[in-house]
Amino acid sequence: MKYLGEYRDAELVGQLMEKIKNTVTRPWVIMEICGGQTHSLVKNGILDLLPPEITMVHGPGCPVCVTPVAMIDQAVLLLEKGVTICSFGDMLRVPGSEKSLLKAKSEGGDVRIVYSPLDAIKMARKAPEKEFVFFAVGFETTAPANALSVIQADKLGLNNYSILTSHVLVPPAMGAILDDPENKVQGFLAAGHVCTIMGTEEYNPLVNKYKIPVVITGFEPVDLCHGILMTITQLEKGEARLENQYSRVVKPFGNPAARKVVQSVFETGDREWRGIGTIPMSGYIVRPGFAQFDAERKYGLAPARSKENPECIAGDILRGIRKPDQCPHFGKKCNPENPLGAPMVSTEGACAAYFNYSHQTMAS
Ligand code: SF4
Repeated sequence: MKYLGEYRDAELVGQLMEKIKNTVTRPWVIMEICGGQTHSLVKNGILDLLPPEITMVHGPGCPVCVTPVAMIDQAVLLLEKGVTICSFGDMLRVPGSEKSLLKAKSEGGDVRIVYSPLDAIKMARKAPEKEFVFFAVGFETTAPANALSVIQADKLGLNNYSILTSHVLVPPAMGAILDDPENKVQGFLAAGHVCTIMGTEEYNPLVNKYKIPVVITGFEPVDLCHGILMTITQLEKGEARLENQYSRVVKPFGNPAARKVVQSVFETGDREWRGIGTIPMSGYIVRPGFAQFDAERKYGLAPARSKENPECIAGDILRGIRKPDQCPHFGKKCNPENPLGAPMVSTEGACAAYFNYSHQTMAS
């Protein structure tokens, strides 16, 4: 297979689905980690095609969804101090404790939508009299570009650029989900793009400790059906191994150059996850050597702690305990026009996926 269309081939999906039905003999709960995988599963109607024995639950791999309320509050606070916040567009409508970045912008805050932290660097070079902060959220996938922006700012001697960091890491979150007394997950589809950067090795300790299958999986319908088939094949045989369905992209050592850049700027530390709480050693923190580019240190921001909206059950959804349509506010009080929580805002959020696509079936 060389071309993208082949990974969306309805006939191939049908064949894989037949194999899944012929393999499964009892109920299994599988979690896909990444919000991109969730959207593909829902948008392409794969959840409707799966046999009733298989329950897919939707993991925490949506960067906007897991960025804590307190980080939005910190960004709003910086706006009120006259700092320019540069952010990817989908962060703007995520509710903070009192207001979103969009609301702060409507009140006069200087919020700029960018497509890369390097756009923010360009802005900072053009306007040395202003302070620019890039809102650096995301998983291992976005960390290399954000680390590069710090290295670039350092090389250029920019003293009006810093990053407000909420970088989170997948393997510690998987461990936290499995440690949860309410956990139902019996197998994981790990996020292919994260492993493209990080490689495969860091999942072996999870497989060994929890005796659970982990299948690194891509994002197209054929990838997902193949990943599910590989997972239930292991489960049915009582096996627990790390497998790589996405081998056309993911190599065992990932992208060494990108990892080196990340490690030069960030170190690992505790991180708060929206709806989940603090997970030890689950995020990237700017190294002390680059402290002048760390907005939290530069502006003396208090540690991020703030209250969640008690009406939103995002924490349960991100841990696979409940599904979006089990939230009492789904599609009623909470919808994309009036989101109560981040999973209804983000393009990768499970609630938005259910709202936008759950009526559709696999396109031929
Ligand atoms: S439907 Fe809305 S309120 Fe319910 S969990 Fe999703 S984002 Fe939160």
